[in-house]
Amino acid sequence: MKKPAAMTMQLLRSLFTKPATTRYPHEPSKMPDGFRGRLNFDPRKCIGCKLCVRDCPAGGIEVTKTGDREFEVVIDLGKCIYCGQCAENCNKEALSFSDDFELAELENSKLVLRYNVKPERKPVQEP
Ligand code: SF4
Ligand code: SF4
Repeated sequence: MKKPAAMTMQLLRSLFTKPATTRYPHEPSKMPDGFRGRLNFDPRKCIGCKLCVRDCPAGGIEVTKTGDREFEVVIDLGKCIYCGQCAENCNKEALSFSDDFELAELENSKLVLRYNVKPERKPVQEP
């Protein structure tokens, strides 16, 4: 057990030392370069080639044709293991990672992102 004098010195030192931890969530955390947070999808770039579907080891992406040059893209963030394969291999750079790591949800359905991709019209993300 430390002597009281040593403990007091350590306490005083701590009062004037910068904390090793951050003030998250009161202050935003800066994530390192290359961090793989929430997967972003840009429907304006996607051509529906399904390369990402084939590459995803977790079965987290579905691309379904819904009409002439129209398709639905479903990304299940609950299945995603953030391996990066889809974003790395998409030739159109339609998939990318953000810094957002706050993905906790009470319902799995809120982690499922649905996009109707219609080249002639502005793409819409369904609620
Ligand atoms: S996100 Fe990229 S790889 Fe996936 S279907 Fe669209 S264009 Fe193809
Ligand atoms: S990051 Fe990996 S697991 Fe997640 S959707 Fe892309 S390929 Fe699938």
